[in-house]
Amino acid sequence: MSENLSAFLYLVASVCFILSLRGLSSPESARTGNILGMVGMAIAIFTTLASPAVLSYTTIIVGILIGGAIGTVIALKIQMTALPQLVAAFHSLVGLAAVFVAGAALYSPGAYGIGTAGNIGAASLIEMGLGVAIGAITFTGSLIAFGKLQGIVSGTPVRFKGQHMLNLAIGIAIVVFGVILVVTESHTAFWILVALALVLGVTLIIPIGGADMPVVVSMLNSYSGWAACGIGFTLQNSALIITGALVGASGAILSYIMCKGMNRSIFNVIFGGFGAEGEAAAGAGGDGDRSVKSGSADDASFIMKNASSVIIVPGYGMAVAQAQHALREMADILKAEGVKVRYAIHPVAGRMPGHMNVLLAEASVPYDDVLEMEEINRDFGSADVAFVIGANDITNPAAKTDPASPIFGMPILEVEKAKTVLFVKRGMSAGYAGIQNELFFKDNTMMLFGDAKKMCEEIVMHLDN
Ligand code: NDP
Repeated sequence: MSENLSAFLYLVASVCFILSLRGLSSPESARTGNILGMVGMAIAIFTTLASPAVLSYTTIIVGILIGGAIGTVIALKIQMTALPQLVAAFHSLVGLAAVFVAGAALYSPGAYGIGTAGNIGAASLIEMGLGVAIGAITFTGSLIAFGKLQGIVSGTPVRFKGQHMLNLAIGIAIVVFGVILVVTESHTAFWILVALALVLGVTLIIPIGGADMPVVVSMLNSYSGWAACGIGFTLQNSALIITGALVGASGAILSYIMCKGMNRSIFNVIFGGFGAEGEAAAGAGGDGDRSVKSGSADDASFIMKNASSVIIVPGYGMAVAQAQHALREMADILKAEGVKVRYAIHPVAGRMPGHMNVLLAEASVPYDDVLEMEEINRDFGSADVAFVIGANDITNPAAKTDPASPIFGMPILEVEKAKTVLFVKRGMSAGYAGIQNELFFKDNTMMLFGDAKKMCEEIVMHLDN
């Protein structure tokens, strides 16, 4: 394939990726966005395979078969709730790939068209140094994030005296060895740089609490994009440069959106240690002797059947229970009875942005019924029922009233303004931030204890009768 044609096809693939990102910004267009992404990737892979630089297809085919098989099995088996750690695991591989590509380029520069051993251009060495440093940090950082989310590593922030100074010292050492690499092309400097960056990946992520891991994963996503971008320069591959930059920028924007949703700065996430067990215990407060009003599915069906407006607030527990289909069935019956039913989505409900939108779309909930927090918050005051299913922190008024609360400042869905608040959850456990929710003890609250899916199924049964 001629160079011009491959450059053109890479450009087409990049345009597909940009349109894909645009499509993914809304649930209505997300499917088209995904398809465009797949088409772009197919074009990029085809163009790369057709390049005259490819001398043998054997290793490539074996790689595609092994990688494709592993990817297919994982994609089929993965639970929606385990997606954040899967993404973290995948990012670690992108980081590792960046390290390997830079290593290969250093040892065989001729194969990459960047000079001969001992005579690699300074620009290529800078790209290599940057790519390998970001890649190695992404690799170990993502492994720690994976471990914390999977519960293999403790979610408690690991802190020690002089931690920030240590990170700064490692960061400076990385720059020093990067300069030595560029000036001398020393292989030893390269491997010391790799080792330092691997350590920095660990020391940067261990002080961050498990509760903030989704933001960290998104940040590492951004790093992996920049690492890929670095590889793109080493390989002189325009598609990889553009795609890496797109991933890098979109990951950074996503981290910003998550922080904004929690009303925290990225520095607070990185240095704040939110989710520490100590804080959780302190904030949990305990239930003391206070009692809550609990009801049954029958009570809930009676209350909602007689309501004129119900606002459903889904949260992480709905995802755990996979209750979205039963929930939609319940909403459909209520709608058929003339009740106005809408869904209120908090920007950080669940464990990743868009988590609830994806699940509701999967259950074919009409997009028009699904409203963002700003659109619906003022309507709780006129709603008869707020049906909170597996959500907790995103409704917790401590975010507005208690400056000592770890979620203070986070905007919340103001469910307490509804005439009746129904909370579906299994028990009195705290939410992600580890703090108690005062709403459970309010007069207008009724707790519906049980698994979210089972509760919806039982309510449907009673509504049908
Ligand atoms: P929470 O984690 O606050 O609450 C979920 C509730 O669901 C729990 O209290 C739990 O109570 C209940 N639950 C769990 N399993 C079930 C089940 N099978 N059936 C019924 N209930 C169940 O979730 P929210 O969605 O309200 O809040 C999200 C939290 O995640 C926020 O703190 C947010 O800051 C954080 N976060 C979100 C990110 C995102 O991008 N979405 C990113 C980073 C953090 P019980 O055990 O009693 O059943």
